[in-house]
Amino acid sequence: MSEARKIVILPGDGIGPEIIAEGEKVLQLVNDKHNLGLSTQTCIFGGAAYDEHGTPLPESTLNACREADAILLGAIGGPKYDTAPRDLRPERGLLGLRAELKLFANLRPALLYPELADASSLKHELVAGLDLMILRELTGGIYFGQPRGIEERGGERVGFNTMVYSESEIRQIAVRAFEIARQRGSRLCSVDKANVLEVSELWREIVIDVHKDYQDVELSHMYVDNAAMQLVRAPKQFDVMVTSNIFGDILSDAAAMLTGSIGMLPSASLDDAGKGMYEPIHGSAPDIAGQGIANPLATILSVAMMLRYTLNEPEAASSIEDAVASVITQGYRCPDIATGDSGEKQVTTVQMGEAVVAALQSGASS
Ligand code: NAD
Repeated sequence: MSEARKIVILPGDGIGPEIIAEGEKVLQLVNDKHNLGLSTQTCIFGGAAYDEHGTPLPESTLNACREADAILLGAIGGPKYDTAPRDLRPERGLLGLRAELKLFANLRPALLYPELADASSLKHELVAGLDLMILRELTGGIYFGQPRGIEERGGERVGFNTMVYSESEIRQIAVRAFEIARQRGSRLCSVDKANVLEVSELWREIVIDVHKDYQDVELSHMYVDNAAMQLVRAPKQFDVMVTSNIFGDILSDAAAMLTGSIGMLPSASLDDAGKGMYEPIHGSAPDIAGQGIANPLATILSVAMMLRYTLNEPEAASSIEDAVASVITQGYRCPDIATGDSGEKQVTTVQMGEAVVAALQSGASS
């Protein structure tokens, strides 16, 4: 590897620094083990940055992120910042970073280890072994479309928004979706509402056109209302789903909750060159911060996603995913995924990180 690839690490607030410390241990280990040539730089971000610099996204952090190949984020926010000026709150820093880096593709896997299936609100057999990926368009659609507003019409107020996608926006997310499907089970389901919405009609037409370059991937289409139903009826039928901003917002939350374990789920937001920001889907969990009991596995799995989707190191990614599966099988549980079964070993954040490191070192997972 000629030039070191740069990873910027943003621990953030609350449990952020605790879970990131474990993610970093895993990253360093696979870096050494697989000779990945990665260098890391830790930057201040979120509430911590507001406390120290008066802004959640200091220029130095933004510049480091711009230059990085990938970013690993813990979590930001907390009640302490609820009274801060709105545009200086930690969440604004996060939105600003996503916008600055043009992270248009949001990947949310919903993965449920068979041993944790009882955490789901669905029947064990419906979700055990669930492994689906939702790809949500993140920077377009009805959340950004113009015109929008509330105005007086015919003597009463009306509210309106515009769901709009250009051909190039659809093409961009569709290409990414086919690429991701190729790295998984090669099945892609595009979710739209083409029976009612013209914007969806165009969406479907472009997805079909992009498919010509990805004939090895099986493409299907589903209306969003049916997709919502199928997600709770038979979620294991899906491999990768791609959809617009608003449909993805709703479906990805539903899919995440199928797994019932917020401390286990990673995510990624990618730009058009594949650069990405990787983070657990959960927040800074102020209620348990400082207690050493936060589950670091969502962060560790975010490291695996980073290796797979930005750094193109699938073998290293799989070794981490296998190590996580192995510690779950061995019965290691942070309190959020503990059920009280006799075979379980209740562990702290650090002990869980160490268990993953041990599984990686033992080679059983490589
Ligand atoms: P949260 O995800 O922080 O916590 C919800 C519940 O899940 C809490 O009971 C928490 O203890 C638990 N939990 C979360 N992560 C866990 C983990 N790794 N291990 C064990 N338990 C875990 O959501 P919230 O309480 O609504 O938000 C807290 C703060 O986080 C808010 O300031 C919010 O704005 C912020 N937030 C940040 C992000 C982010 O950084 N991307 C995302 C969501 C919320």
